[in-house]
Amino acid sequence: MSETPFDDDTLHEECGVFGIFDHPDAATLTVLGLHALQHRGQEATGIATYDGDDFHVHRASEMVGKAYGDPAVMEQLKGRIAIGHNRYSTTGETSTRNIQPLYADLAFGGFAIAHNGNLTNAHTLRTELVEQGALFQCTSDTEVIVHLMARSPQKHPVDKLIEALKQIEGAYSLIGLAGDRVIGVRDPHGIRPLVLGRLRAEQGKDSHVLASESCALDLIGAEFVRDIEPGELVVLDDDGVHSKRPFDAAPSKFCIFEYIYFARPDSQMDGKSVYEIRKNIGAELSREAPCEGADLVVPVPDSGVPAAIGYAQACGISFDLGIIRSHYIGRTFIQPTDAVRHLGVKMKHNANKALIEGKKVVLVDDSIVRGTTSKKIVEMIRQAGAAEVHMRISSPPSTHSCFYGIDTPSTEELLAHQKSVEEICDFIGADSLAYISLDGLYRAVGEAKRNNDLPQYCDACFTGDYAVALTDHDNHKAHEKVTDLRERQKR
Ligand code: SF4
Repeated sequence: MSETPFDDDTLHEECGVFGIFDHPDAATLTVLGLHALQHRGQEATGIATYDGDDFHVHRASEMVGKAYGDPAVMEQLKGRIAIGHNRYSTTGETSTRNIQPLYADLAFGGFAIAHNGNLTNAHTLRTELVEQGALFQCTSDTEVIVHLMARSPQKHPVDKLIEALKQIEGAYSLIGLAGDRVIGVRDPHGIRPLVLGRLRAEQGKDSHVLASESCALDLIGAEFVRDIEPGELVVLDDDGVHSKRPFDAAPSKFCIFEYIYFARPDSQMDGKSVYEIRKNIGAELSREAPCEGADLVVPVPDSGVPAAIGYAQACGISFDLGIIRSHYIGRTFIQPTDAVRHLGVKMKHNANKALIEGKKVVLVDDSIVRGTTSKKIVEMIRQAGAAEVHMRISSPPSTHSCFYGIDTPSTEELLAHQKSVEEICDFIGADSLAYISLDGLYRAVGEAKRNNDLPQYCDACFTGDYAVALTDHDNHKAHEKVTDLRERQKR
C-alpha cells in the first residue's frame, strides 16, 4: 500500500496510459493527457517520443505537473509521436528503473511500452526467461512483454507484440511506440479501459489519440471516437487507424469498480457516463437501504459525492457537504510515523460542525477496505455533534483481493473478508451500515441483474469469481502449501 499516512485505507488504480500519433506538439499534449489521468497513478510518470530518427525518453518519480515543468525536459522530447504513463506502483518496487514507458532496442529497432493492468503469469514467465538467460533491467512485470517480443521469430513489431501477448495472462491496456507507429491493445477480457480519440487538424491530417479514459481526450480538445474493444489491437500510422483481432474471443469482463470509484466521473466508459452510473448506484442504494427520518445525506469526499447525490435525490433527503476535504495534502507532506498516522484522516477531512450538530446523518462512501478510515470519519461526525450516523456504501462488501491492476490489501486483510456487515457496523461505530447489493450494482450499470453463469463484468473483489487465470497466485499458494508441509515435517 501507499507510503503516505493519508491514503493507505483506500484502493488505488495502478496506472494511466496515453499515446498520440502525428502532432507537432505530441509531447505537450501527452503531458496534458497524463495530467487528466493523474488520478490513475501519482508516484511516477514518463513520456517516450519518436522524431523519425531517434527515441527520446523522460521518466521521473514525480507528479505530472512537476515532472515536465522544466522547459529543457520538454525540449528534449522531440517528435510528432509520443506515448506516456502515470504509475502507481505495486508490482515492482518504486524506483526509477521501473518507471514507464520502458524502452528497449529490439531487432526491428527501438520499442517503448506503457502498460496499465497486471499480468497474472508474469512471475512464472519471468522465472522461465531468466533460466533461459534473459537479463532483466527492472522488476516491473511489463518487461516480460519486451523479453517475449525480443525472442519472437516474427519480423514485424506488431506481430512480435501479438506473439508475446499470446503468452500473457492477466489484465492489460497497453500502448507501444514502435518507430513510426503507435500500437494500442486491450486484453481479451477488456478488464482495464482504453479509448480512441481524434484531434482535428486545422490543416493537414488529423491526429489519433489513445488514452485510459475519455477525460484525457477532453482536456486536449480531442473528440471521443470509441472504446477499444476487448481483445482488439489498433495500429495508428500514416494511413490511419487499423484494427486487428489477434486473440481468441473471450467474454467481456470490464472492471465494474471503474464505475464505482477508479475512473474520473467526467469520463465515459463503454458508452456510459461514469457520473450518471454513480448517481444510479446511489439511487439503488437508497431504495435498498433507506434511512427513515434522516436529516442530511453527506458524501465522504470526493469519490462518494455522485452516489450521495443519487441517494439524496431518490429519497428526497437534503444533500449537504458535511465533510470538507483539504486539497492541499501533498503525498510527501509528512512521513507516515505512528505519531502522526492517527492525524491522517483529520488532515484530509474535517466535519462541517455547524451543519451536522444535532442531525441524523447518512454518510455515503464508495467502499470500506480495512475500515480504519471509515471508523475515524464516523467518530469525527459524532464529535461534531451528529445525533445519529448511518453509513451507506456504494459498492458491495470488498471481500477479495484484486489481481488485475488495482492495489488492494491481501484478501485476509480486507475487513469484509473477516467480518459480517453487523460486525463491520460495530467496528466503525455507526448506527447502521448497508452496502449496495451485487444485483443493485448491476442494475445501476444498466443490466437487469448479474448473470451468475457468466457475469457481464469483472466483480471478483466482491465475489471471488476471478475471470482470468491466477497462475502466479496459484503457484504462490502451492508454494506456501509445500513450505508449510515441509515446516510441519521438520517439527
Ligand atoms: Fe476491478 Fe475488482 Fe475485478 Fe479488480 S477484481 S478488476 S478491482 S472488479
